[in-house]
Formats: sequence, C-alpha cells, structure tokens
Amino acid sequence: MLPRPISDAGFYHLEAGPGFPKGLKDSMPAIFWAIPSKIHSNSCDNAITILQGSPVAGPHTHKFILISMDSDGKARIHFDIAGTIEGILLEHYHDGLQPTIEMRLPFNYSRIPPWIKGIARFFRTSNMVHEPAVDFPSDRHPEVVDWLRNVADWTQAPSTVRSRSFSWPNGCKAALTISHDVDTDWIFNNAGWIDRICDLEEHFGLQGAWYCVPVYSQSKTAIAGIERLVSRGCEIGCHGYNHDAKWPLLSGQRFEDRAKAVQVFRDRWKVRGFRSEWLWRTPPFLLTIARLFDYDTSVPTVSSFFTSECRNGCGTYFPYVTHGNMIELPLTLPMDDDVHASGLGLEEFWRLQVERAMRIIDSGGLVMLSLHVQPHQAANNATLQAVEKAIGELVAVPGLWIARPDRIADWVRSQLSMEHTGCTHECD
Ligand SMILES: [Zn+2]
Repeated sequence: MLPRPISDAGFYHLEAGPGFPKGLKDSMPAIFWAIPSKIHSNSCDNAITILQGSPVAGPHTHKFILISMDSDGKARIHFDIAGTIEGILLEHYHDGLQPTIEMRLPFNYSRIPPWIKGIARFFRTSNMVHEPAVDFPSDRHPEVVDWLRNVADWTQAPSTVRSRSFSWPNGCKAALTISHDVDTDWIFNNAGWIDRICDLEEHFGLQGAWYCVPVYSQSKTAIAGIERLVSRGCEIGCHGYNHDAKWPLLSGQRFEDRAKAVQVFRDRWKVRGFRSEWLWRTPPFLLTIARLFDYDTSVPTVSSFFTSECRNGCGTYFPYVTHGNMIELPLTLPMDDDVHASGLGLEEFWRLQVERAMRIIDSGGLVMLSLHVQPHQAANNATLQAVEKAIGELVAVPGLWIARPDRIADWVRSQLSMEHTGCTHECD
C-alpha cells in the first residue's frame, strides 16, 4: 500500500530533465514529494539536506523524485532513506539551537519570580513568530520519520536500527507515559501537592517520572520530598544542573564541575533518565550525557517554545536510539507550559492536547505528557482539573500500554537491541 504522503505528492508521468535521478526512465510513473521549505527548517538549503534529493523546482518549494515504479510494478527508491531518517532523528539538518535571550543573561533566569517572567514572556511572545511552537505537532505532518519508515517498509529498503519500527508489549497499539519537570524546590516546600498529583495520576494507573534539578534537591525538605515520590512508586530523573540552561554552553572545567555534581545526584537516587533544562541540547552534549544516563527525553517531535528560534525536532512519535546509544523518549506533545505562549485558555489547550494525543495513538506512537509542578504552571486547581479530564479521556482508549518512562526505555532497548551499559563507560 502506498504510504500517506507528507505533502503534495502524486503519480506523474515524468519528462526527462535536469535534476532527474540517474536511471529513471522517461514516462515512468513516479512519486513527487514536494516539501515546503519551512518543514523542520529555516531555509530551503536545509530542506535539501534533509532529503538528499534533487531540487527540480523552487525557490520556495522543492520537488524531489523519491520513488519510481519499475515496469514490473516494483517500487524503486532514489534516495538514501536510512541516512535520511538518521539525519532527522539526530538533528543533523540544522546548525544547532540558538541560545535565547534568557540563557545569555549573566544570572540564573529561573530564579526570577514567575510574575516578572510572565511580563517578560508577554513582550517576548508578542514579537515572536510562533510557528510551529504553538501549532505543535503541526498540521504539516511532524511525523516525517514515521512516514519515511513506512516508505522503507513498502519499498523493502535495507533497514537499520534507526530506520526500522518496533511494536509495543502485549500487542498494545500505542504507549502513554507522564513526566514532571521539577524546575525549583517549590513542590518540596509544598509537599501536599506531591500526594495530590500522585493521587490524581495513580487513579488512572499512571506512575510518572519526576525530573529534578540537582542543585534544588539537596535540602532536607527536598530529600524528604524525593523520598516521598520514591515511596509513591515514581521514577526520579535528572533535570539538568541548576536550571540556568547554560550547562550545554559551557566547556572545560566548568562543564566537568557540573557533570560531577550531576553524577552525585544520579548515584544517590539511582537515576536513569535525563531531561535537559529548556530542552537545550547539542550532539556533543548528548554524547556526554550518555556517559551518565540510559535514556534522554529532551528532544521534541517538533520544535518547542523554548527552542523555537531554530526549527528543530526529531520528527517521530516513536522512541529511538540517539547519540551515544542512549534511548530517546521524544516529547511528542507540547509541554504544559506552552499554554502561556499559545494564547489559548486552559480548557482549549488541553482539549487540543487530547486531540493531538489521539493522533499519536492512531499512529501507534508514544504519548509523552509533561507537567511543570509550580503554581503558575500545573500545580493549581484549574490546571489539574483540565489535566484530570484529559488523562481520563486518554486512558479510556483501549489497547494502550501505560508505563513509567524508564520502563518504556527498557522495552525500547530490548526491541532495538543495542548494547549500552548506560553508566560505566563512554559510548561512541
Ligand atoms: Zn525545566
């Protein structure tokens, strides 16, 4: 069966001309895939890099001949599909994230009171181009990698660990998990909210991961809070170092000092998963993190609010093997915090989240919910009400595998069977 095209595509009769792949005969039906230059990229050049194809139109839209049909009806592929998938998953198609103004401040932006941040956000977002941060996953087929995998299956292209798909346990059709970014020690000082959130999630059969900031996890109160989370069956993960989002920008001793402190936190709480502050990441940073953690969950399917100054993302609803052989559990949905940038009301925002999650479930992917546990984010009555309704609708879908992020990472590892000890040696 012909995979669903991600954009304008169709069968055409070809006329030979410049830019046509070698060996493609005239008058042979072929699929043209026109990729708007804006998908996953700021520029047409990057779009070309993604597909490694031959541009035959444009400056704003390029057409690529991807697949042709032989006279015996066999599909023939005209680009390196495994290499293309790898290039998108590992984000080789952009030049790196652009540090935001907040990251360049000489102090830790996260320590500014929320009401001041709210004013700053108002002025910043009013000047920003939102697309696709708000429309996320965008309607323009963010699951480009999943589509390419279907093409690879259909054309029987040789598969690699990154190009092949996998299935969920017990015949489940999709997976659902929940994560929490503990950006400060607020919830430890207001511990009633720990049980409140855990009660809500446990009611629906969810136990989540709580990615804590090592620097904010050292006081007696914080330790008691983390112990409480452990006793509730939650997973403890690591959320950067001190939430100033500068760790990936550092080098030398200053970088290593943070790595050492993070390692102490990891050892204390037997942490296996990592989420970067502000989702900030670079290939060398992820390689370093792979020395410390089994899995990462810092990469959005499509660029998120915090990284939207550069289009980025992994283009898949499925976990995959990322830099350093870590398992990547992508943020397949916008984070809860995006409600502020979206300009939507809570109810509307969470209604859209459910709609997007249903699309992910239909695709057989992983729904990664995320909550920030501070009062101006998810730790308030109105948000929890909206979240409760949304989770209730999602868990009612039959055939979902509901599991903690670390268990999902274990399953993916077993399916993709790549060796990784995760903590004891440096990976390639
Ligand atoms: Zn955070």
